[in-house]
Amino acid sequence: MQNTGFFRYLNHTFSLRQALGWTGASLLLALLGAHFFRASEYGLVVCCCGVLLLHCGHARWKWYAVSFFLFWGAVQWGSTAFFLAQARMQAGLPWFRAALIVWSVAGITCLGAIALYGSQSHAGKEDPLARLKGMVFFCSFWVVHSLASLSPVPLLLLERFFPRWGEAQIIPLAWYGVFVLTLLLDPKRSRRGRKLVWTFFSCVFFGQLILGLLGMEKLLMTGNLHIPVPGFIVFGPAFRGTPGMMLALALAAALLVGSAWCSMLCYFGPLDAAAAGSRPVRPLPPLLRRAARHGRLLVLALGAAVALTLRMAELPLEAALAASVLFVGASLLCMALLSRKYGGMEHCTAFCPMGIVVSTLGKLSPWRIRVAPEKCDNCGACENVCRYRAISATSRVQGKTDFGCSLCMDCIAVCKNKALALRAVGLPLSAATARSIFVLLLVVVHIVFLAFARV
Ligand code: SF4
Ligand code: SF4
Repeated sequence: MQNTGFFRYLNHTFSLRQALGWTGASLLLALLGAHFFRASEYGLVVCCCGVLLLHCGHARWKWYAVSFFLFWGAVQWGSTAFFLAQARMQAGLPWFRAALIVWSVAGITCLGAIALYGSQSHAGKEDPLARLKGMVFFCSFWVVHSLASLSPVPLLLLERFFPRWGEAQIIPLAWYGVFVLTLLLDPKRSRRGRKLVWTFFSCVFFGQLILGLLGMEKLLMTGNLHIPVPGFIVFGPAFRGTPGMMLALALAAALLVGSAWCSMLCYFGPLDAAAAGSRPVRPLPPLLRRAARHGRLLVLALGAAVALTLRMAELPLEAALAASVLFVGASLLCMALLSRKYGGMEHCTAFCPMGIVVSTLGKLSPWRIRVAPEKCDNCGACENVCRYRAISATSRVQGKTDFGCSLCMDCIAVCKNKALALRAVGLPLSAATARSIFVLLLVVVHIVFLAFARV
């Protein structure tokens, strides 16, 4: 047969084995979509269609993503078989045949996922990040979907406007997660990329808040307004006497990715980064330096005491609002005067109580920046770029960064001697693997925040 352009294209694009894998996986995805359609889970139907579209792409990471999605699909079929058998048993109906059919579909889906995954493992290695990207795509989908389905209130924005369609927004979010991962793992683009992604997150957060205040209450998480300042993630529960969802999210994030909350997950940080600008960081005068050392602890203690007093004294809401306005004013003043003047993120490092909470909790996670003193020639580039004032000649000699390190990795990007690396303390991981796992976790948590973090 003549090798026409079309056949040459097909031949170049797919091996026979891949073509079979593609067809099988497409049928399994269509079947899964039909299953969700029958259950009126229209958002998940859109997810299946989205993954099917993904499956048409050439990039290897997409095929990995599809195989992980199919594994998840097999678990969905398995649980359906279990509940079907249980329901039929309780109703006194024959259950074995029906459950066996659904179990078989679960088994075939699982085999399809294994075959697709295996076909990629043996394929060329033109994208070393393919598996990681596929994992970020799937984990973002899975975590956001699981949290959304566990919540008694609709967490996903789309769900508030179109009930049962909410999950449809997860596929673009997961795709965006792959883009963020690629940026953060590229040494040349990581610094700028982190700032862009972080600023975008802050714009989405405050954009929703402004629209909510203008009358679109559905954009506010509970329909009620909360003060959008990180300190209130701690003070709010102290005032109300009940823990909030944001507190749970922040604490879970601190355990997973340590103090990276302060460099990628906090919606307020980009304001301080903008105030600090891009000028070189200047040293603080001795008096301010001493005040900054204990500032966050002091603000945390004072703020918690005020919140508890307001609650116990049952003072009117106006008093709480006045205290809140004072706190927000002090935050903005700190940025306007100190961060602008000295070029460091003074609000985050010396004032914000959430910073000290996540830095302390972050010690439970294994992630640390480590310095190889023998490679360091004391050029000072890391010190100049660190807006958290967390690295100095003294800390470099000790082989580590200071307590305030936010794991932003900007210093790693500028160190020409490769003397700095992110490590997983206590775990037998190379620097490259540690960084990949850390960035994977960071991106997934970031996507969860992007999907849910609304006041
Ligand atoms: S940038 Fe690297 S070589 Fe320069 S002072 Fe920092 S750790 Fe040392
Ligand atoms: S020491 Fe490095 S990783 Fe830590 S905050 Fe400073 S620049 Fe970021």
